[in-house]
Amino acid sequence: MALAPNYAPLPIEIIAGDGAWVTDTSGRRYLDCLAGYSALNFGHRHPDLIAAARDQLDRLTLTSRAVDHDLLIPFADAVTALTSTEMLLPMNTGAEAVETAIKAARKWGYEARGVTEGRATVVVAESAFHGRTTTVVSMSSDPEARAGFGPFTPGFRIVPYGDADAVAAAIDETTVAVLLEPVQGEAGVVIPPEGYLARVRNLCTARNTLLILDEIQSGLGRTGTTLAQDLSGVRADLTTLGKALGGGILPVSAVVGRADVLGVLTPGTHGSTFGGNPLACAVGLAVTRLLATGVYQDRARQLAPVLAARAEQLLATGRVTAVRAIGLWLGVDVASRTGREVSERMASGGVIAKETHGRTIRLAPPLCVTEEELHLMMDTLESAVGR
Ligand SMILES: *Cc1c(COP(=O)(O)O)cnc(C)c1O
Repeated sequence: MALAPNYAPLPIEIIAGDGAWVTDTSGRRYLDCLAGYSALNFGHRHPDLIAAARDQLDRLTLTSRAVDHDLLIPFADAVTALTSTEMLLPMNTGAEAVETAIKAARKWGYEARGVTEGRATVVVAESAFHGRTTTVVSMSSDPEARAGFGPFTPGFRIVPYGDADAVAAAIDETTVAVLLEPVQGEAGVVIPPEGYLARVRNLCTARNTLLILDEIQSGLGRTGTTLAQDLSGVRADLTTLGKALGGGILPVSAVVGRADVLGVLTPGTHGSTFGGNPLACAVGLAVTRLLATGVYQDRARQLAPVLAARAEQLLATGRVTAVRAIGLWLGVDVASRTGREVSERMASGGVIAKETHGRTIRLAPPLCVTEEELHLMMDTLESAVGR
C-alpha cells in the first residue's frame, strides 16, 4: 500500500457530501457527526462558501506574500471585527497557527518584557491538543503523540487542566504565555470548572504574561458563541483559529490578537508561502459573513439543551460513565465497549463519529444539523453503546 499508515480510518469510503450528510461508494448515506473535527461547522459544500471559492478560482488563486492582493486586508478586517481583536496573521494549518503564537509570545517576551533571550517558558495544560509538529508535540502530555519524536523543544511547563492555582504556581519571571484550549476538544470535550478562564485571564494580566487561547476546534460557532472564550467573558491576548475558518474547503488558519504582540513579527522573522492566499481569503471572508449573521451561533445555542438533555438521559441508563456537553459538542465516556467499537457500530447505524483516546466518543455535528438529525445521532449512539 502506497499510503502511510498514520491513521486508522473507519471502513467507509466517502465520495460525496451535502450539508450534514455524506454518501459512500455503495450509495449509503451517513449523518456526519465528526464534521472534519469541526472543520465542517457549516456542513459540506455550503452554497455561499462554494460560490466564493468558485468565483475566486476564476479570478486569482495564489500570489505569495511577496505582493499584496485585494482580499488580504478585507480578510484581516473581517476576522478581527468578528472576534473583537486588533490584528491578524494568516497561516494555513492549525499547528502552524499555534507555532506562530508561540513564536510571537517568545519574541514579545524578549523585546517587551526583557526576559533573558533563550529562557522563555510557556505554561500549557495536560491532555491538551495543539497539533502535530515537533514543537507542538513537545508540549503534549500524550505518550502516543510524543514517543519516538524527541528531542523535544524546551521551554514548556505542563500543569493540570482546569486548575487555576496550578497555572499561578507555574508562572515565573520567564513565563511569556499561558496556552490553553477553552474547552479541550481532542481530550474528549473537557469543559473546565466555572470561572477558570476568567481566573487565568486575571493571573496573566497581573503577571504581564500573555494568555493564548487555542480556538481551532472550539471556535467559530461550535459552543453557541463566535468564540468559546465569549462564554467566559474573556479576551485572550492571542487566539488561534483554524479548522472551520477554511469553510470545509481548504486549510485556513490565523492568529488574531493584540497588535503590540503580533507586531513583533517583522518582515523576515516569520512567514508562509500559502498563508493568506487569495483563495483562502475568499473562503475565509465568506465564513466570516456566515458567522456575522449569528445564525450558526444561535442554532448551536438553541439545540444545545436538546443535546444536553439526551446526553443526561443516556448517562441515566448507566451505559456510559460520563457525558460532557457544550453547544453542539458532546464527549461521552463509554465503558462496556471500546470507543472504536462504538464508532464502528455507529457507522453501521448510519452515523459517522470517531473515538478519541480509547474510551471517549466525541460528537460534533455540523451546525446546520436539524433537531430530528440530532435525535437520530443520539438514538444511534444509544444503541451503539449497547446495554
Ligand atoms: C485540530 C487542532 C489543532 C491542529 O490543527 P491542524 O490543522 O490539524 O494542524 C490545533 N489545536 C486544536 C485545539 C485542534 O483541535
